[in-house]
Amino acid sequence: MKNSDLFRNENDYADFPGDAAVAHLAQTLRFPTVSHVDTSATDYTAFDRMQTFLRTAYPQISAKGTWEKIGHSLLITLPGSDPDLAPALFMAHQDVVPIVPGTEGDWRHDPFSGDVAEGFIWGRGAMDIKEMLVAEMESAEYLLARGVTFRRTVYLAFGEDEETCSTGAMAIVQTLRERGVRLEFVLDEGAGDVTDAADWGAPGTLICTIGMYEKGYGDLRLRAKSAGGHSSNPYHGTSLGHLAEAISAILHHPPRARLSESVRNSLAILRPWMTEEPMRSWALHPESFEKEILEWFQRRESLYHLVQTTIAPTMIQGGSPAGNVMPQDMEAVINFRMIPEDPPDRLLTEYRKLLSEDISIEWAQQIAASVPSQIDSYGYRSLKSVLEHYFDRLVFIPAQNKGATDARQYEPLCRCVMRFGPFLEEEAISAEGIHGTNERISIWTYLQGIRVLIRLMEETCLRGKEANE
Ligand SMILES: [Zn+2]
Repeated sequence: MKNSDLFRNENDYADFPGDAAVAHLAQTLRFPTVSHVDTSATDYTAFDRMQTFLRTAYPQISAKGTWEKIGHSLLITLPGSDPDLAPALFMAHQDVVPIVPGTEGDWRHDPFSGDVAEGFIWGRGAMDIKEMLVAEMESAEYLLARGVTFRRTVYLAFGEDEETCSTGAMAIVQTLRERGVRLEFVLDEGAGDVTDAADWGAPGTLICTIGMYEKGYGDLRLRAKSAGGHSSNPYHGTSLGHLAEAISAILHHPPRARLSESVRNSLAILRPWMTEEPMRSWALHPESFEKEILEWFQRRESLYHLVQTTIAPTMIQGGSPAGNVMPQDMEAVINFRMIPEDPPDRLLTEYRKLLSEDISIEWAQQIAASVPSQIDSYGYRSLKSVLEHYFDRLVFIPAQNKGATDARQYEPLCRCVMRFGPFLEEEAISAEGIHGTNERISIWTYLQGIRVLIRLMEETCLRGKEANE
C-alpha cells in the first residue's frame, strides 16, 4: 500500500494556488544554501538571495509581517489581535546538506535544478526541509490573502545551520527570550514514520509517529596509556587489552531500561487496536507489567531504543603497527544515545566507578536528552485532530525523534514542541533522498502537507477557541 492511499479531504481549499506553491518550492531549491561546520565554507549569498526571493514571492507576509534577520536566520512575526493568546511558532531550516563529492552524476536531475518532472519537485532540500519552509509560508500567505487577521501571533522561524550546529535557532530563541515570549506550541520537522504496529501487538494497524522529544547524544572517549615494548613480555597486559576490557565492561553494564511516560502514552493510545496477547493485557496495566513490557521492547529492533540508552563503540585508534610490538597510548570512542532518564553526568560518574584506574574517560561531546513535550496540550490535540482529518487509517502516537533538530532549542520557551513534517512521502523515496541522492518530493505529498499546515494555522491561530494552557 502507498502512503498516498491514506490521503483524504484533498478537495479542501480548492482555491489554493497549487501551481504557484510548486513553483515557489522549485525556485527555493535552486539556491544552494549548503551549511558547513567550518562556516567560512558556507556561501551566505545563497541564503541572502533566497530570502530576497521569499519577500517577493509572499507579498502578504511581506506587508503584514515583521522580518528580522538574525545572523542569516530569519524570524517573521505576524502579529495576532488577541494578546491573551500565547503565540504559535512554525519552524524549518534554510540550510541543506552538501552533495557527496563524486555522486553529482548520479542525480537524475541536477541537485540544485529545482526541476519539476515526473510528478516530483527535485533538488537538495526537497524533503529536508525546504518543503516545510515553503509550505509554512504558503499557508500563512493563503490565509492572509483572504483578508483575515490572526488572533494568535504566528512566528515563522527559519534557522541557518540546523545540519551543523544550530547556532541560528539558538540566536532566535535568545531573541524571543529577551522579549519574554512564551509559546503555546512549536512545530518543526521530524518523525512522521508510517509503520505497521505488529511489534506493539497490533498487526494490521498503521501507526504514525509525532516526535515529542529527542534522545541525548554523547561520545565517550576512553584512553589507555602504555609505554609499549616487546610483546614477549606483556606482564602488565597491553593498552589494547585494557581498552577492550573497558569497552566490554561498559557494554555489559548498560543503563537500566525504563518505560517512559511517552511509551506508556503510546501503549494507552494503541490498546484498542491491540489484538495480540500478551501485549493487549499488559497495556491495560503497564505499571504491573513493567518488567515484561521492557523485555518485550528490548527484544525488538524497532522498539528497544525507546526504552534504553543505546551504546555503540565506534572508534579505536593507536594500535601497534606490528604483531610483536605492544601498542602505546590508545583511545576509543563509544557513542551513547541517552533516554531522558539518563543524564550524561550520572553516566560518567557510574562508568568511572566501574572501570579500572588506568583507563581515563571523559565526554568528548555530549548533550542531554530533551525534555519530553506533553500530549495533554492544546498544540498536540490540535495537530492530531488536523492529521486525522487528512490521513485515513493512521493512529498517531507520541514518539522520540530520531535525529537532533533545531526544535530542542525551543524547549525553554514552550511545553509543547512537536517534531512532525506533514509530508508523508513513500518510504523508499524519502529513504533514498533525505541526505542522499535524487532528493525529491511528490507534488501530491507536498500539497497534502500544505493542507495540513493551512488547517492547523486556521484552527489554532485564526479561531484559537481554546485559551492558553
Ligand atoms: Zn532537517
